[in-house]
Amino acid sequence: MIKTKEDYINSLKKLNHVVYYRGKRVADVTAHPAFVPHINAAAKTYELALKPDHEDLMTATSHLTGKKINRFTHVHQSREDLIKKVQMLRLISHETGSCYQRCVGFDAMNSLYGVTYEIDEKHGTSYHERLKKFIAYIQENNFMVVGSMTDPKGDRSKGPSQQADPDLFTHVAKKTDPGVVIRGAKAHQTGAVNSHEMLIMPTQALRPEDKDYAIACAVPVNAPGVTMIFGRQTNEERKLEQGMDAGNPEFGLVGGEALVVLEDVFVPWERVFMCGEVEFAGLLVERFASLHRQNYGGCKGGLTDVLVGATALAADYQGTSQASHVRDKLAEMIHLGETIYTGSIACSAMGHKTKAGNWEPDTLLANTTKYNVTKNIYEVARLAHDLAGGIIATLPFEDDLKSPEVGKYVEKYLKGVSDVPTEDRIRLLRLIENMTGGTALVESMHGAGSPQAQKVMYLRSGNIEQKKKLAKKLAKISEKK
Ligand code: SF4
Ligand code: FE
Repeated sequence: MIKTKEDYINSLKKLNHVVYYRGKRVADVTAHPAFVPHINAAAKTYELALKPDHEDLMTATSHLTGKKINRFTHVHQSREDLIKKVQMLRLISHETGSCYQRCVGFDAMNSLYGVTYEIDEKHGTSYHERLKKFIAYIQENNFMVVGSMTDPKGDRSKGPSQQADPDLFTHVAKKTDPGVVIRGAKAHQTGAVNSHEMLIMPTQALRPEDKDYAIACAVPVNAPGVTMIFGRQTNEERKLEQGMDAGNPEFGLVGGEALVVLEDVFVPWERVFMCGEVEFAGLLVERFASLHRQNYGGCKGGLTDVLVGATALAADYQGTSQASHVRDKLAEMIHLGETIYTGSIACSAMGHKTKAGNWEPDTLLANTTKYNVTKNIYEVARLAHDLAGGIIATLPFEDDLKSPEVGKYVEKYLKGVSDVPTEDRIRLLRLIENMTGGTALVESMHGAGSPQAQKVMYLRSGNIEQKKKLAKKLAKISEKK
């Protein structure tokens, strides 16, 4: 069983899964600087679980085995579990300042838990029991799971079975006695290169003609036919330099996403949790999305805390902290961070029990939380840029600071208040640059689904007809008119 950070890293070394970076196969992701920061961030989910102070948030009791488990492998059993999840995310964000990736698989297991129960109820299948065994296996080993939902989707005006290339949505290519063979790809896979298992799910609601696309199953990341191609990020070559210009050299920025190709991957039946039940695909997407959108006020709320601290320090370091507009803007940043956190707590507190007995957050409030994140995080970044100053876009290289020729000039002219070393000021400004840059902001916009997906849920769950009735009643308009 994986317990420590070292156990986790060793377990990744043994996987020998197929990962490409800049066109070349990577022999060992744990020894490659492009991946190390993301691995360090994910490792925090293991490390913090061993700290007695964080035991209550970071661990839970398995409802399947009665054993103590890492909360990232838990199936929520109460509202309290939902709230603790959000508190846990805020806590880890404080430690990493970046995405720790493990939430996606956590949410995939939880959403499938309720949906498999309901499929079995209707179709007499045994997906739920299979999933319970899979979850117990994940809990026993303390594995990290990728939540694999997003398909490449090709021509968005066409459905899965109408695409010119049938593989643009992941589908069952063949069914055999021992299992299924799947084909396709999953895009933007957060944490895929440093996980153990993928939990594959359909990407959208499906029609009867899309039967082959209604597939949910578990695939080890090192299964034959799985190939991962790692994505570029803003300033990602700074990870390779491993110096202070990276801003957050230990933990990187956002999650480290990969395009995962599934080329005729065999999946035994005991790892298949949906196969052809098209009418449940939309429900699964909706529930997974709510569980993942629930997170965003926790993880981004925690990142906002770090950024408020960094921005306040930047003001201290340049002697502007007493200016009234600086204090006002810091207050505004805190307001924006607490607003998104409020949403995550609210959707958890208003959560409900599914037929299977697990707990899920309120759909409308979870979507509202995520939608607010798409706006608030940009505003938080805008305020951080405003207060930190244009210097975050013009700082010299670390090499210049260390240069025997020009280092003295960088030291002298980038000095703020006299008692703070120039290097500390540069380190801090680099952290702000890292946390407010391109990839980090785009993740807040599109991670857990693009804002338009939340608007769709508003119209679906917002109950406009009921609201019309409220207005009619007050305006004394009879129901018949
Ligand atoms: Fe978890 Fe946040 Fe990363 Fe999503 S973006 S995986 S919720 S830390
Ligand atoms: Fe995300």
